[in-house]
Amino acid sequence: MPDINKVIANIPFCDLDGAELDTLAVRAGQSRTHEMEHSEAIFPTSSFVFGSAAEAAARFSGEVPGNIYSRFTNPTVRMFEQRIAALEGGERAVATASGMAAILATCMALLKSGDHVVCSRGVFGTTNVFFEKYMKKFGVTCSFVSLTDIQGWQAAITEQTRMLFLETPSNPLCEIGDLEALSSLAKRSNALLVVDNCLCTPALQRPFEFGADIVIHSATKYLDGQGRCVGGVVVGSELLMNEVYGFLRTAGPTMSPFNAWVFLKGLETLGLRLRAQSAAALEIAQWLKDQPGIEKVFYAGLEDHPQFALAKKQQSAFGAVLSFRISGGREETWRFIDGVRFISITANLGDVKSTITHPATTTHGRLSPEDKASAGITDNLIRISVGLEAVEDIKKDLYRGLQSAGLIS
Ligand SMILES: *Cc1c(COP(=O)(O)O)cnc(C)c1O
Repeated sequence: MPDINKVIANIPFCDLDGAELDTLAVRAGQSRTHEMEHSEAIFPTSSFVFGSAAEAAARFSGEVPGNIYSRFTNPTVRMFEQRIAALEGGERAVATASGMAAILATCMALLKSGDHVVCSRGVFGTTNVFFEKYMKKFGVTCSFVSLTDIQGWQAAITEQTRMLFLETPSNPLCEIGDLEALSSLAKRSNALLVVDNCLCTPALQRPFEFGADIVIHSATKYLDGQGRCVGGVVVGSELLMNEVYGFLRTAGPTMSPFNAWVFLKGLETLGLRLRAQSAAALEIAQWLKDQPGIEKVFYAGLEDHPQFALAKKQQSAFGAVLSFRISGGREETWRFIDGVRFISITANLGDVKSTITHPATTTHGRLSPEDKASAGITDNLIRISVGLEAVEDIKKDLYRGLQSAGLIS
């Protein structure tokens, strides 16, 4: 009987030392079986067999590494983990069933009752609910601060603070958090800096280079890039990821092998997609700014953006999500959204299909009017995630929105 560890051995002669992101995205982490398949294989199996009772015992005790059971060991999932770890420049990655499961696993593994978290106010809405409602039930408290207000972060830190959590750029208003400043705050407070790098991906921003301890992704967004699967991943040091892996093995919010395979295929085009979609978003932001009836465009690639310089320092491009306010209220804004003819009306982002959203009544609909106002989520705000359709066609579609809102005759 073949030893599964030998069968799944890494590909001989494949040397990726010093390779660039585009190479790693295609090659890193791949293992090949004795069938010599060129493309990565899917292993849809719940368990793995052992050559003998002694081998089973050695695997279970951890004496001999290898596959046991797909809740915590699956070759396709491992290929995805190794590829994303290489792309982020982290020691190890742990894949999870969703982006929220990645946040759950990180917090359950690394926080305990009595600990305190400081989190940027503009995070993904469900992350907000996760900290406020569920972590609180288990004695972990959370303070929310403005992403860009370093003094606010400092003031919120207490003796109990063990984690600083943020997304940069923020969604939908494209504010930028200063990773180096927050990393030094975290180090002084003996807290971990956790960055949700969903909007940039390692193709545009590598938070470890600026001192982050943990990087989290919703793989559902740009890592897949084509809107097919839900998944997530946590990346960090061997020491920290060993704890996260322990939680995954015990509690089971595991990524399926099929989804891992889809994400592996998605990663192959990560750099190409992110560069093309960011370039299109920049062009659309500049174009929108000059259209009648557009009050303000929020995009860190515009030179009058307050953190343009910081975005340039941390990111190699400005990303594909932007938002804008139109002249008018909710009625005109809804008419704008209903006026587009191919851009999808959906809350998702990170797809090659462009999407359009009204944050005030969807993604941020649960916020109180005061919280919406302080977060800048006004009724006349529209968010778009720019896809891979021809830029001229996206502009034409947005132009139909402007016409339908009565901003252009
Ligand atoms: C979507 C998203 C999440 C949650 O990921 P799921 O895969 O939907 O669970 C977390 N953070 C950000 C920034 C997201 O956009």
